[in-house]
Amino acid sequence: MDLRLLRTRRIKAVRRERPCMWCAEVIVSGSSAVNEAVVFEGEFRSEYYHEECVAARDRTVKRIKDDLEWSPGDYPRGGDESYEDQWEREEMERRRADCELNTEVFPVELRVIWP
Ligand SMILES: [Zn+2]
Repeated sequence: MDLRLLRTRRIKAVRRERPCMWCAEVIVSGSSAVNEAVVFEGEFRSEYYHEECVAARDRTVKRIKDDLEWSPGDYPRGGDESYEDQWEREEMERRRADCELNTEVFPVELRVIWP
C-alpha cells in the first residue's frame, strides 16, 4: 500500500455533507471534521473524517504497528474495533459461555445416564 499524507487540516464546520472515510456515516454540514490530502497509489485524494474517527484510526494504526487497510464502514463511528473483530470476539465469548455451561451440565447428565 502506497499512501503519502500531504496535509491535514481541521475544519470547524463542513459546508456540504460527505461520507466519513472511517465509519462511512455522513458528516453533516455544519459539523467539525478532519480533512486529509493524500496521494494513494499515485492518485490524489481529499478525504474527510469525523474528528473521533480520525482519532480511532490513529489508535488502531498505533496498536497494530503495521499498515492498516480498511474500507469505509468497516469500523463503527469513533470505534477502533472493526465490526468483524467485534463479531469474532463475541463469537468466542459465546463459545466460551457454552463450554462453561456444558461442564456444569455434564455431571448432571452423567447421573441421569448412570444413576
Ligand atoms: Zn466517522
